[in-house]
Amino acid sequence: MIKADRVVSTTCPYCGVGCNLQLHVKDDYIFKVTSPFDAVVNQGNLCVKGRFGYDYIYHPKRVTKPLLRKTTQKPGERTQAFDRDEWREVSWDEALDYVADRLVEIYRRDGSDAMSVYCCAKATNEDNYLLQKMFRALFRTNNVDHCTRLCHAGSVVALQQALGSSAMSNTASEVIHNDVMMIVGSNTSENHPIIALQMKEAVSKYGAKMIVVDPRRIDLVDFADLWLPLKPGTNVPLLTAMAHVIVKEGLVNYEFIKNRTEGYEDFVESLEKFTPEYAEEISGVPADDIRAAARLYANAKNGAIYWGMGISQLSHGTASALALIHLAFLTGHVGREGTGLNPLRGQNNVQGASDMGSMPFHYPGYMRVDDEANAAKWEAAWNVEPGGLSRELGLTTTEILSHAHPGGVRALYIMGENPMMSEPNLNETRKHMGQLEFLVAQDLFINESGAFADVFLPATPFAEKDGTFTNTDRRVQRVRQAHAPRGNSRADWEIICDLARRIESRLGLATAKWTYSGPEEIFAEMASVVPDFAGITYERIAKTGLQYPVWDKNHPGTPFLFSETFPRGRGKFTSLDYVPVVEQVDDEYPFILTTGRVLEHWHGGTMTRNSDLDALYPEARVEIHPADAEIHGILDGMAVKVTSRRGEIVVRATVTEKTTVGVVFLSWHFAEAAANLLTIDALDPQAKIPEFKACAVQVFPARKEDLPNPDVVVARGRY
Ligand code: SF4
Repeated sequence: MIKADRVVSTTCPYCGVGCNLQLHVKDDYIFKVTSPFDAVVNQGNLCVKGRFGYDYIYHPKRVTKPLLRKTTQKPGERTQAFDRDEWREVSWDEALDYVADRLVEIYRRDGSDAMSVYCCAKATNEDNYLLQKMFRALFRTNNVDHCTRLCHAGSVVALQQALGSSAMSNTASEVIHNDVMMIVGSNTSENHPIIALQMKEAVSKYGAKMIVVDPRRIDLVDFADLWLPLKPGTNVPLLTAMAHVIVKEGLVNYEFIKNRTEGYEDFVESLEKFTPEYAEEISGVPADDIRAAARLYANAKNGAIYWGMGISQLSHGTASALALIHLAFLTGHVGREGTGLNPLRGQNNVQGASDMGSMPFHYPGYMRVDDEANAAKWEAAWNVEPGGLSRELGLTTTEILSHAHPGGVRALYIMGENPMMSEPNLNETRKHMGQLEFLVAQDLFINESGAFADVFLPATPFAEKDGTFTNTDRRVQRVRQAHAPRGNSRADWEIICDLARRIESRLGLATAKWTYSGPEEIFAEMASVVPDFAGITYERIAKTGLQYPVWDKNHPGTPFLFSETFPRGRGKFTSLDYVPVVEQVDDEYPFILTTGRVLEHWHGGTMTRNSDLDALYPEARVEIHPADAEIHGILDGMAVKVTSRRGEIVVRATVTEKTTVGVVFLSWHFAEAAANLLTIDALDPQAKIPEFKACAVQVFPARKEDLPNPDVVVARGRY
């Protein structure tokens, strides 16, 4: 048996559950990952990604030296370079001087609006805090965003509007205190596997009732009392019909309404047309099932709602999330242990990146950038002259790229994200990327977006740096270095500080401070301004982390929120209308495509497709219902072409009752058959989140030779 030189306690780099990992290290290699039974988040359980998905750290394709493109890239002629021969290895000094020169040149010529940055939901709080600080304090722009825009932006806007706080209200493990839970638009077993385990335990051991609202027959349906298989994009009528039933049948918690909410009367008026029969007509869910779900949730002692991107990734994602929030307000199922409103955040640190101000409308701590007092606080903290920070709302991820043209955005700095996989309508995204004047990629691998870059800055993965991640239930946890960075790669925060110093000296600005002894000092700077983190120190979170808000050094953290009041005061009802998805099916494109993730992979695949996890699930599959497959002459395992008005891919079909009639499902991890070539770039007007969950497609048999890798087949499945 191998004996470890050391065992390092850290936090999983994949999903928002935030499981504790023990990295067993021998000769500067991790050879095993375990987790202790007393781990507060995961009690020793890990999914396949956390347990085995660390080998990408040692993949030969990982870039560990700074690279410059050999051929100068020009707007309109920018090309992708995956081959190392198209790049030149350079020193850090050469790479960072070049980046500083080009960014400053563009800023001086075209001003703040030409500058933009994608922060990263996989990087630490400290990395994200510094990157948004660099663009705000030096380039005076709020064109700062990250992939929260693509996952829960609808939830964030709705929660801010209705409550004044967008975080998950309760602790995930409180699920065992629920007597009724609603799981809405979340394939929890594949996306948050350890929370799904706790949900199953709540049902099988503690007798909780589960309601699943999802167009797919996901794994949790086996544990549910009720499954409402709605047509994608019909959340608002279905959930508002539940509100209608709760009001009409007198199941309302009137005391909660009186003491804690506003806008109830107008809201009740707006419910009139949302009868269960009306909702059945639109959603396809039987009216009696809608009634049964409403009664079950409303009559619960501790009802809780957990939701995923089936709610938010719609052109009316904000309205969808509001429809859920209304149910909690009507019944008072919020503000107590074991209840609540719980958007399950996707990536390991999407909560933290948002908290750190990696968004175009907010500084760290969700302080609006257009609020004078907030701006003044950050000007003082960053040594920026009064009035120096921009008060203009910035562009979102989706808007940054569509503004890439002369007179618009000219420079983009991407830390760890992959818009060439994660944006909708990738053929259009490709055109926008090509229009950039200067592009920097800071990452581990040359992915589909980094391949467009002028400069590649090699960063370190989670196991080679220190810092913190914040999980889906607001727990700030330590990330610890297990071994030194490979090659010449450097931690993101170190790269940012080094670059910022060079930019600052070129601009002749007073220093915003870019010299830190380490991530602990960076965190302390942020916490000195953001009250939610005032009581968090590295010492206090050494073992189990703390759930913010933590108001002072003696505060124990906050497992659940809103016990007395909401941050905005009263919870606000908003009257809703049913707005259909933008693209309706027709004879030419008769299926609704909905997209999501599978257990073995993560996002655009930069990590998992460079891991042995890829061998477990090596190809994209489209799921189609047996009834649809028969009509279209499609057999299980057959090559099929999936087309939309925007693009086409060839994949193998999985014929399964996991999907419903008229709905097909694709995961979006596979560059060679990218689901986002098909998706539509329609946006929610408030949250600017794209409609990933519904567009119209056609599916028909193709030739096996047209598959991107005809000999690669998923060897097993869970269908
Ligand atoms: S459930 Fe999420 S955090 Fe836990 S091991 Fe799996 S991917 Fe990591």
